[in-house]
Amino acid sequence: MTRLAQTPDLTEFQTDVLAAVRTFVDKEIIPNAQELEHSDTYPQAIVDQMAEMGLFGLMIPTEYGGLGESLLTYALCVEELARGWMSVSGVINTHFITAYMIRQHGTDEQKQRFLPRMATGEVRGAFSMSEPELGSDVAAIRTRAVRDGDDYVINGQKMWLTNGGTSSLVAALVKTDEGAEKPHRNLTTFLIEKPAGFGEVVPGITIPGKIEKMGYKGIDTTELVFDGYRAPATDILGGEPGKGFGHMMDGVEVGRVNVSARACGVALRSFELAAAYAQQRRTFGKPIVDHQAISFKLAEMATKVEAAHLMMVNAARLKDSGDRNDVAAGMAKYLASEYCAEVTQESFRIHGGYGYSTEYEIERLMREAPFLLIGEGTSEIQKTIISKGVLRSYGL
Ligand SMILES: Cc1cc2nc3c(=O)[nH]c(=O)nc-3n(C[C@H](O)[C@H](O)[C@H](O)COP(=O)(O)OP(=O)(O)OC[C@H]3O[C@@H](n4cnc5c(N)ncnc54)[C@H](O)[C@@H]3O)c2cc1C
Repeated sequence: MTRLAQTPDLTEFQTDVLAAVRTFVDKEIIPNAQELEHSDTYPQAIVDQMAEMGLFGLMIPTEYGGLGESLLTYALCVEELARGWMSVSGVINTHFITAYMIRQHGTDEQKQRFLPRMATGEVRGAFSMSEPELGSDVAAIRTRAVRDGDDYVINGQKMWLTNGGTSSLVAALVKTDEGAEKPHRNLTTFLIEKPAGFGEVVPGITIPGKIEKMGYKGIDTTELVFDGYRAPATDILGGEPGKGFGHMMDGVEVGRVNVSARACGVALRSFELAAAYAQQRRTFGKPIVDHQAISFKLAEMATKVEAAHLMMVNAARLKDSGDRNDVAAGMAKYLASEYCAEVTQESFRIHGGYGYSTEYEIERLMREAPFLLIGEGTSEIQKTIISKGVLRSYGL
């Protein structure tokens, strides 16, 4: 082995696209990330270049103008982008999940209506399950859509929309009255087009403003308030109410591979910075890497980076093969995000006092890592999924 996080058996196209993304990250993202993060500035120039590279349409089928690539290609690109700046990977993540759900579950008309414009990045997706009172407990959603003629009237409040302000299409999970006993069978996904921006963007939809966060800056995370918003019944994903929970869980499952890829990228960058710093910084007459305590830290970090990458690649390949991957995605997300938190922490320690300075990248990576323990389901939720899944095979 020469370098960490290598992936065997890639196609020529995958190798080329990854090389292009890596060069883009090294030249355009890493040199600008600290300044954009600290000024909380949306990375418009970077996003424009990502659109030019076709990254918004990576997994959208070629018949709709996308590149028709696999989840693995997507995840490896995300790993590279997050190595540069996690916020940039956040710009395409909700877009990718929304496009994936439309590709898998949309009507033909919905695919025609949205996917070509999503492939170019003209329409940009956000997805919304969480509310002020719930995140893990999705079936408890309160935002309600009530049928009125050919429309539904939606009222309620959604929370934590990544790209809520900059997106122009929101896949929103809300409650409808299907008369089902099980609460999750009364949930429906609406595809809601709206202009980008803040305030009352269309009658009945308000995006109040950006939520201030400890990290993951530059991109907007918002609330969304529905107040009598009228959605035509044709905007129900797949055309049929009561199927929304399944749609979202499918989206979140690929989203978990994406979060593990981000964790791999953040951990890899933290390792790279620590390895470089440990060879430059001298104490007691020698580089700190020559103290075994530090070289052992690097060994542990490298092993975690490698293990997380392998789990992430395994989960992506499983999904691409058409097999069920809920357990593999849960394991990858759980392991990669926990390791990422540990690796960033160790890199921070290796940087000594400088790790606490905002001039050094590691302080940003330290603030990025905790979100990965939460987004697309917390570690506790992943463990619930993993234990249920493995006990299907090991039950007595
Ligand atoms: C920056 C950011 C961006 C986000 N972007 C989006 C987005 O784009 N779209 C979206 O819909 N949501 C988004 N979220 C919301 C995110 O998905 C939720 O925060 C997450 O699912 C956890 O939900 P919660 O915050 O309500 O915590 P809770 O569900 O209230 O959990 C609180 C604690 O209890 C634990 N817990 C809960 N239930 C159990 C259980 N059954 N067993 C054991 N422990 C349990 C949790 O693990 C956690 O430690 C975002 C969040 C953040 C911070």
